[in-house]
Amino acid sequence: MNFETELARLSGTVYRDGRHVASTSDRTKAVLDPATARRIGQFADVDLDEVDLTVESANRAQKHWWALSALERSESLHEVATRIRALSADVAELLTRETGKPYKESADELMWTATAVDYYAELGRHSIGSVLGPSVAGQLHYTLKEPMGTVVIILPANYPILLFIWEAAAALAAGNAVIVKPSEWASLTTLKFMEAFNELPAGLVQCLTGGGAVGARLVSHPDTHMVGFTGSINTGRAIARACADQFKPTLIEASGNDAFIVMPSAPIDVAARAATFAAFFNCGQVCTSGERFFVHEDVYDEFLAAFIAESTKLRIGSGLDSVDIGPMEHAGERDRVERVLARAVEQGASVVLGGSRPADLPDELKDGFFFQPTILVDVKPEMEILQAEIFGPLAPVVKVSSLGEAIALTNDSDFGLGATIYTKDAEEIFRATNEIVSGMVWVNAPILDNDAGPFGGRKMSGMGRQLGAEGLETFRHTKLVMIDPSASAHDFWWFPYSDDESWKAPRAHNPTDSEAVSDFSEPLAASVHP
Ligand code: NAD
Repeated sequence: MNFETELARLSGTVYRDGRHVASTSDRTKAVLDPATARRIGQFADVDLDEVDLTVESANRAQKHWWALSALERSESLHEVATRIRALSADVAELLTRETGKPYKESADELMWTATAVDYYAELGRHSIGSVLGPSVAGQLHYTLKEPMGTVVIILPANYPILLFIWEAAAALAAGNAVIVKPSEWASLTTLKFMEAFNELPAGLVQCLTGGGAVGARLVSHPDTHMVGFTGSINTGRAIARACADQFKPTLIEASGNDAFIVMPSAPIDVAARAATFAAFFNCGQVCTSGERFFVHEDVYDEFLAAFIAESTKLRIGSGLDSVDIGPMEHAGERDRVERVLARAVEQGASVVLGGSRPADLPDELKDGFFFQPTILVDVKPEMEILQAEIFGPLAPVVKVSSLGEAIALTNDSDFGLGATIYTKDAEEIFRATNEIVSGMVWVNAPILDNDAGPFGGRKMSGMGRQLGAEGLETFRHTKLVMIDPSASAHDFWWFPYSDDESWKAPRAHNPTDSEAVSDFSEPLAASVHP
């Protein structure tokens, strides 16, 4: 594939009714390669009329999709997974060119995407409700799981394909149509990925590019029925508020500020490699990155030396070369991380590794949005760097004197997405997994995901769950059905009420009659009508 031709073909399009078409909008925004800062294409900031047409198509397609058998939907989704595998090399290269991540990480993202689709293809047909023990003899009581309708998916750029599929695969398996509004920094890759859905009913999966206004229109549109959002807290709040106006169900996957605890029983060399990965994977642009390192004083010096040594080995450069770390997604993010670092230093933190843009890059990468893996010490809990999300390659390390202190610091946060602890002590494992307030806890296994297990946060990190069986339920309504096959009269509670069962006033005119005044332990009918 010639990528210049492909990027030119995708530029300015939307994916509607099963194909790429030119957007009707003449407003476009440049797409830059973050490794070189060179323009590689543009995406359309779509017109709001285009949103209306897209929503109409989605609702039409959804009715057709839901009318199929569960087995047919499952087969179609398995075909999507096969198609993803066929497209993955091309999409992965585009993903690296547009977001900067090393090609290996892009290829992994595509692979995880395919397994998630296969997983939901089966889960979606496993059960669409359950039969209940009836509350009336001779009746059938059961629940039916039904789709929401048209689901709007709004995304960030750090895992644009994986995060899309975690929601879209579950939503489609549940019988919904999907409209995705990708991040402004991953629009062309998402448009390319849409080819995985070419064989589904036209309009079932669609992609509209643009900024916040396009997302906001999709969210508040009266004919969209649910919103799955992944991104920052502020946008998540705005979306949750807009949805509240219509009681529209929402899944909010927002920011994280995960702790990474190291205890003395951990193998320190492994914990240091794990910390390096947790801190700098995807240049720290992972919602579950390690962002606050709490290290026990007994192993602090040993761990810090090993952490620095491991991080020093990381190779920085273009994601299409043999590197471990690529550039950040865009200049604005790199500049923001520089501000976070400057503020931390101003508040007393010391840089022991990195701390600036790399100086030794080849000429063609000089303008790229790179920042060195950076480790900080002398960090105090009240500093802003520990209180806010970093979402970049900065790793603040704090010395603690006990597990209790580490857990207290972990929980002293507005966020509650995930947390990692390195220990081999069973008591510490039990304590950490019970006491840490977060959606996920990893013990010696940082940042892992599992298609079959729920992913999501607590506190300001979000509400609702994706992945696993819970992630399917997120995109379904439950309908209760009760059937009396004989259509019999339900005299045990219908009109007319019998006189025997109506309220009987106590015989107040004869207060000495103890039987009539206060003995409610006996059935009224028996006591009043002897
Ligand atoms: P962002 O909130 O700025 O943007 C996310 C998306 O929302 C974009 O597509 C944007 O165009 C859209 N948007 C903006 N305003 C909108 C509005 N008013 N209505 C509807 N849509 C609107 O987030 P970002 O900076 O692109 O992403 C980084 C954040 O995402 C980080 O905080 C990170 O932790 C978080 N994240 C969370 C998870 C998770 O699963 N919890 C996963 C990945 C990233």
